[in-house]
Amino acid sequence: MISMGDYQIQCTACGRLYPDTGSNECPDRHAALQRTVYSAQRLPCADLTGMMRFYDWLPVHNRPVVTAGPVTYKSEVFARELGLSHLYVTFNGFWPEKAAAIKTCSFKELEAVPTLARAAEKKSGILVVASAGNTGRAFAQVAAGMNTPVVVVVPKKSLPRIWTTVPADTVLLITVEGDYSDAISMSNYIADLPHLTAEGGAKNCARRDGMGTVMLDGATTIGRIPDYYVQAVGSGTGAIAAWEASQRLVRDGRFGHHLPRMVLSQNHPFIPMANAWNAGRREIDPMTDMADATQAISEVYADVLTNRNPPYGITGGLFDCLTETGGEIAAVRNDEARRAQT
Ligand SMILES: *Cc1c(COP(=O)(O)O)cnc(C)c1O
Ligand SMILES: [Zn+2]
Repeated sequence: MISMGDYQIQCTACGRLYPDTGSNECPDRHAALQRTVYSAQRLPCADLTGMMRFYDWLPVHNRPVVTAGPVTYKSEVFARELGLSHLYVTFNGFWPEKAAAIKTCSFKELEAVPTLARAAEKKSGILVVASAGNTGRAFAQVAAGMNTPVVVVVPKKSLPRIWTTVPADTVLLITVEGDYSDAISMSNYIADLPHLTAEGGAKNCARRDGMGTVMLDGATTIGRIPDYYVQAVGSGTGAIAAWEASQRLVRDGRFGHHLPRMVLSQNHPFIPMANAWNAGRREIDPMTDMADATQAISEVYADVLTNRNPPYGITGGLFDCLTETGGEIAAVRNDEARRAQT
């Protein structure tokens, strides 16, 4: 039995339910994502601003004081441009007129809040986070706000992207020669040192459930689960999180009984998940799906999308998400991205 306001963790491979120790691995060592199972089947929305109004579906017991959260609105002008009549945008950034208060200006801040809070509650040790920019900035900002230590590892060229709006005395920032993948390797090495622990990326249920508040805000604002969920992906964490949140909303019963179709994109020429998915493969084949990775990564416009080791084939990961939702991943060229931005 799970008591009210509580949760357990479930392995997506073996189905085993167990109490949260702060680990991101199955006690039986299955290579699979570990999910939260909340005792509250109906989503209670607390009378709070920001993401913490969904705290019953976040793996934390203490509620960090944050005003940041996703903000959903019905698009009119952009929708008209696209010829759509029911387009909703869930905005994750800073837009005071819309009460959008994510100061580091990306949804990574939604991931950082419960991840740092869970690590503090579970006494997991000091988190080590690798980033191409947005994750590092978000974790630095949130750790500073919570007065919690964090180690952030970024490629040297991402350094200008790391800033906070508050003094960040609890943040140790390390730069690495190379790209995002080199930062990930270095962070894994550092995380093995005493008192430090790898934050876990997509494997961390707190990160996914924090990100899942985007879907919760969308569905509660629209009144139903959307038909489609559109996102540019590098790791696919956002899409996996949206899928998991949708499954909870389906069990809730008040928002419809369908899962949203995942409409995802990667930036050509670095498109390992798009290649593997469009070839019908669960495994990313480095030789065919990301040949000349270093070169390809250096060419893309959206370098926050360049993850060489995404949670794609792993049980409960993006392949399963796309399969179950009837999803798709497109490859978008730089000139198309620039035109769309204009
Ligand atoms: C991290 C990031 C993405 C990619 O998200 P994933 O779900 O981790 O693949 C897309 N857009 C922005 C702005 C990001 O910061
Ligand atoms: Zn297991």
